[in-house]
Amino acid sequence: AKHKGKSAFAHFTPEMTEVSQDRLQMESRLRRALELRELELNFQPIVHTKSGHLCAVEALLRWRNPAMGMVMPDRFIPLAEETGLIIPIGEWVLENACRAAVRWKQISGQDIAISVNVSPRQFRDPSFPEVVMRILAECGLAPELLELEITERLLLDNSIETAEILRELDRAGVRLSVDDFGTGYSALSYLKSYPFDTLKIDKSFVQDVMKEPEDASLVKAIINMAHSLGLRVIAEGVEEEAQTHFLRQEGCDFSQGFFYSHPLPKQDFEEWLRTNER
Ligand code: C2E
Ligand code: CA
Ligand code: CA
Ligand code: CA
Repeated sequence: AKHKGKSAFAHFTPEMTEVSQDRLQMESRLRRALELRELELNFQPIVHTKSGHLCAVEALLRWRNPAMGMVMPDRFIPLAEETGLIIPIGEWVLENACRAAVRWKQISGQDIAISVNVSPRQFRDPSFPEVVMRILAECGLAPELLELEITERLLLDNSIETAEILRELDRAGVRLSVDDFGTGYSALSYLKSYPFDTLKIDKSFVQDVMKEPEDASLVKAIINMAHSLGLRVIAEGVEEEAQTHFLRQEGCDFSQGFFYSHPLPKQDFEEWLRTNER
């Protein structure tokens, strides 16, 4: 099939690498992914560390393409960012995540918060706060049940625009969390100037907490610092029972990871919801 379109590519220089051709092909496939309904959300439980009870769910994007199979976000989110496709894709994610949260309330009778990842380009789009508020209104989801996860790297620019967008979202009642905390070589000063509610300790620290005393110290210090700033803490990447004991002992509020559940397709998550009484 590759050879068929050759004439159309005749203007390409010979040094055109295979990598960039793959990229182009992936880009054109990604452009059509929304209309072809190839995107789907998986859902990973976030539990209360002390009780193990479900309190929130993170929406994680998957792309199921006939030619490429299941594509994980690390492989296509960067491309979506570069091409701007993240704007419509991100809107789709928000809409579907919020709708799911409304549905779970109907299924379980409980308020289950939904966490949605927001990429830098999407966040900086001037219409982003409006889009969020419109979707909340359309779905009928209470703003405090939506948590937006913003990677620490985005906060390093320390710009006035970033602060304004965060304040606008905060005023609307949406929850804000710092994702991948500890990976951004950050100056911690942004924590006091931005209206965050939650801090997610990156899994790279959590994973070695039982093996590396330095990681254990860091996690303890992060939990204490977060609490003294009035922030709640989520530990990501919890895989072993021993880690749950450590996190409970150190007073980490919430936990997420394969130990509790892998990210699940919608149907499986709803099954999990029905069988895991809180
Ligand atoms: P993230 O936001 O840090 O999401 C957590 C990642 O860790 C997920 O990978 C999840 O499957 C994985 N994970 C969860 N528990 C464990 C564990 O116990 N051990 C290990 N080793 N991994 C665990 P995933 O789903 O492949 O997503 C990768 C990244 O892609 C996310 O990292 C996030 O930055 C990005 N992403 C995913 N969905 C979206 C989306 O809808 N929009 C945007 N902008 N980015 C997204
Ligand atoms: Ca996240
Ligand atoms: Ca807030
Ligand atoms: Ca993370």
